[in-house]
Amino acid sequence: MQKFLSFFRLSSRFSFNCKASRFIIGTKTSVSSLIDDFISLLFPRMCAACGKSLLKQEEIICISCEFHLPRTNFHLSLENPMFKLFWGKVILESAASYLYFHKGNKVQQLIHQLKYQGRKDIGIKLGQQYGYDLKVSPFFQTIQLIIPIPLYAKRLKKRGYNQSEQFAIGLGEIMKIPVDPNSICRIKETETQTNKSRFKRWQNVAEVFEVKDGVSLEMKHILLVDDVITTGATLESCILALHTIRGIRISVATIAVAFL
Ligand SMILES: [Zn+2]
Repeated sequence: MQKFLSFFRLSSRFSFNCKASRFIIGTKTSVSSLIDDFISLLFPRMCAACGKSLLKQEEIICISCEFHLPRTNFHLSLENPMFKLFWGKVILESAASYLYFHKGNKVQQLIHQLKYQGRKDIGIKLGQQYGYDLKVSPFFQTIQLIIPIPLYAKRLKKRGYNQSEQFAIGLGEIMKIPVDPNSICRIKETETQTNKSRFKRWQNVAEVFEVKDGVSLEMKHILLVDDVITTGATLESCILALHTIRGIRISVATIAVAFL
């Protein structure tokens, strides 16, 4: 249906483009906007956070929800709570997370749709928004490559995409930094971390990641990206694997933080 609608939109525009007169151009705009109005009447676009209809100029999240998103502003200070979570465990250049994740809040709804309802666009949108913040943060100025935490192959096949990669794509687009989804891979499926003791969590994520192409990462400052940080154990395990690479510097960024 979506394909049919886009074809309909395109063909109506094309037929008017063939005639070059101010009158026709004016008509084209009004007809095309009429078609858009008609389509949005039949298939209203909803805000992914509150479910209300989106206005014409709004995309994915309405202006009100966007304004009220619970931002952490961690990117404004180096020694923020997320950076401190890794103290004494792994060496990091900087760490930041875009939003606070709480049970039942709008961030949880957004992440749920991104992970389980095929809404890749939410990940890209949040990445773009956070990209503007990180671009001006003094702590993320030397990043050369963005690497999303990989999914286990079986899970990737089932979901069809990696949600962290979508966030990375949005970040990369705004920060003008390439995204590398291939240099590391996840060689072990991990169980959920939430109800495990610290030692069990560590056992669970030990040797989960493998570096496939270490040479291309040598002497680089990379931004490792994940969806939600809870205990930090998964990121920690991936950082340890990456620290085997010569001269590498690592920073991390996540969509949301759930430990506060
Ligand atoms: Zn909304």
